[in-house]
Parts: sequence; structure tokens; C-alpha cells
Amino acid sequence: MSSGRYQALKGMKDIMPPDIHVWQSVERKAREVFSAFGFREIRPPIVEATGVFTRSIGENTDIVEKEMYTFEDKGGRSITLRPEGTAPVVRCYVENHLYNMPPPQKFYYAGPMFRYERPQSGRFRQFYQIGAECFGSPHPAADAEMLSMLRHFLSGVGLPNLKFQVNSIGCENCRPAFKDSLVAFFAEKIDDLCADCRRRYGQNPLRILDCKVEGCREARKGAPRVTDHLCEDCRVHFEHLLLLLEKLGIPHSVNPEMVRGLDYYTRTTFEVTSENLGAQNAVAAGGRYDRLVKEFGGPETPAVGFAIGMERVVELLKAAVQYDLPRPLAFLAMLGKQAGIEGVLIADRVREKGLWVELGDAGSSLKSQMRRADRLNAQYVFIAGDDELRAGSLKWKRLSDSAEGEVAIQGVVDFLQSLS
Ligand SMILES: [Zn+2]
Ligand SMILES: [Zn+2]
Repeated sequence: MSSGRYQALKGMKDIMPPDIHVWQSVERKAREVFSAFGFREIRPPIVEATGVFTRSIGENTDIVEKEMYTFEDKGGRSITLRPEGTAPVVRCYVENHLYNMPPPQKFYYAGPMFRYERPQSGRFRQFYQIGAECFGSPHPAADAEMLSMLRHFLSGVGLPNLKFQVNSIGCENCRPAFKDSLVAFFAEKIDDLCADCRRRYGQNPLRILDCKVEGCREARKGAPRVTDHLCEDCRVHFEHLLLLLEKLGIPHSVNPEMVRGLDYYTRTTFEVTSENLGAQNAVAAGGRYDRLVKEFGGPETPAVGFAIGMERVVELLKAAVQYDLPRPLAFLAMLGKQAGIEGVLIADRVREKGLWVELGDAGSSLKSQMRRADRLNAQYVFIAGDDELRAGSLKWKRLSDSAEGEVAIQGVVDFLQSLS
């Protein structure tokens, strides 16, 4: 057997204290805000049949072409670790006939996603998203509601200077003509495009519009704008969304180059950035996908959703917000064998009430137990030796200001509850 030590896989990382407290507070805020908007949690499996992703995200996208963790299971089935959350939720929605309930049906999910990204790009191969999907409303009010929910969540966790970029990429009626005009525009410039975009030119020319390569940015100057090619219905839809964003006071700008990398979007697409990050670093993104439920075999169902990149949100918050680390309410410094036993019982009664109490090692000195209470940043220390036990009371000390007192052993739980 090899004696080598294991490391986490490349692109995967452990999330530990103290960072985990930031993660948890972000997750709590999401649940709180999303619930207020009527969204309920849904937990699809992390692994799906590969087709769930190939047919929804699109064969010619980076995700499907290069980034999926796809395996054959022991039964010879092709399965894939989910690279994004929308397709599994749609699969679940259709499989469980959730469309039979009155619309709109609103769900959120949270958990890990997997993409085989190049490690030098600073992205993780297991990364976390919180996402929300609203099924059954074609109205721009549903799109506005998603953006409003995102704003409440992101500003609620403490992210400053949010910027919303919105776009409409049209529908099946108006997008083909727009694609044609893009193909015509880039026909002269194919040689200036990067290898990826030369391939996209034939398959998915919209994606040339958000390529980050400098030569491609240059080549697309003066390219047709999708917002100039919308059909009447799409135009009215988009204008109504913009009006609602205006009324809601959501700071936004129209970015006709923002097409998003996935095939399933129709009409609205959006991205949210926080001023403190570079422009390409969205903290959340999403859009409308009115045809996806039908493609999964369900009835025609308009839908809109978004996903939040947890790593980016946490990274920004760590820079922007001072987090108080959780600390024990009390530390029991016990001296001697009897006191050690009594300490176990007291701690047990206090913990039953959901209060954090730490117990010292009754066999070690008071000094070393106090050191540990300090390191844990406990708010109160209770001290008991055999003498105090005989008297039926404990000494307490508040570490912030050295206030002191005594409390009956029977009253310790009530005392601590009154402090918490
Ligand atoms: Zn249209
Ligand atoms: Zn390119």
C-alpha cells in the first residue's frame, strides 16, 4: 500500500471554518429572501442522464463540448455530474407533472455543480450555485421579480454597488433573421476571429458577441445589435421589463452583446456584477427559457431563472464585510474529579437549550483552562472546584469587562438563557 498523502483533486477545494460561516450566512439569506418571494426549495440529484444536459444546454456550447464530467456507470449508462442547475430542475418539473399545479410555480436550489475547467482560469471544478426558477408566467413582471429578488438577496448579504445588465436575445421568430445578419457581418472577418469563434460562426454565431478574446472584440465592432432585430412581441416584452426595472429603482443597463453561453435562453438575459469585481465577473446571471419545458416533453411553459455563483459572492463578501466569528456563550472551567463530572452534567443541560458551551479538562490547571476559554473567545467563564460544588454554586466571569458574580448550579441554565 502506498504511504502517500492524499490531496483534494485539482480544481476542488475544502470549504472550512472560518470561511464556512460566510457561506452559511449567504445561504441563510438566500432562503429568507427567496421564501418571501414564494420560492420553495427543490433538491434534484447531483447526477443525471447525460442527455438532460446535452439536449438543453446545446451540443455546441463550451460546457457540453469540453467541460462535463461524464462517466459510464456500472450498468453502461452515460451519466453526468450536473454542470448547471436549470436542466435538472426542468427535468424534475416535467417528470413530476408539477405543471399540473396552478402557475406560477417557483423553486430554488442550492448545491455543487461540476465543470472540467482549465485550472489556471481561477475557476473551480466543483463550484456552488444557488439558483431560482419560475415556471408558468410569460410576463415581463416575472423577469422583473427575479431581478428584484436577486437585488434584495445580494444587497441583503452586503454586496455593494450592484449593476444589472439586461438584454433580449429574441425568440424563435426573430432570432433566425438576426443570426443571418450576424453571419453576413462576420463573413468578411472570419480570419480575424479566434478558433472557437470560427467554429461558432457556423453553429452558434450569437456566441461570437460575448467572446472575451481581444481580436474578437475588435472584429465585432459595428456588428448588428440584437435589440435592433427584435420582433414586435419581443420588443414590447423587453420594453416592459425595462420600465419595471426603472420603477423598481434597479440600476441597470442594456448590453446587446450579452447573449449568455447556453442555447436554451429566449428573450430576456441578464447578469449582475458588483462594482468591486472586474467587468467579466458576474456574481449572478440568468434569463428566460420559454421552450425548455416543452423540449423535455412537458407542455409549453414559459420560464425564467437565474443562478448565483457562491464562490464569487463569498470572495467579495470576505473583502467587503467584517464577519463576527461564532463564539461560545460560556466556558466551564472545572477543577477536580467531582467538578469534572458535574461539569459534564451542567454542559449537557445548557446544550439541550441550544446554547454553545465548552467544557474544560477538569484534570488540567485553571490557567490552562482559562487560556483555552480565551482562545475560543468565550463570552463567560464559569469556574467550579469541589468547594464551590459543596456550596451549590458557580463563579462566573464575563471576559469582555471582567465583571464577576455567582450563580446557583440549579440556576445556570436560566442564567445563560437570559444572556443569550
Ligand atoms: Zn421575437
Ligand atoms: Zn472569439
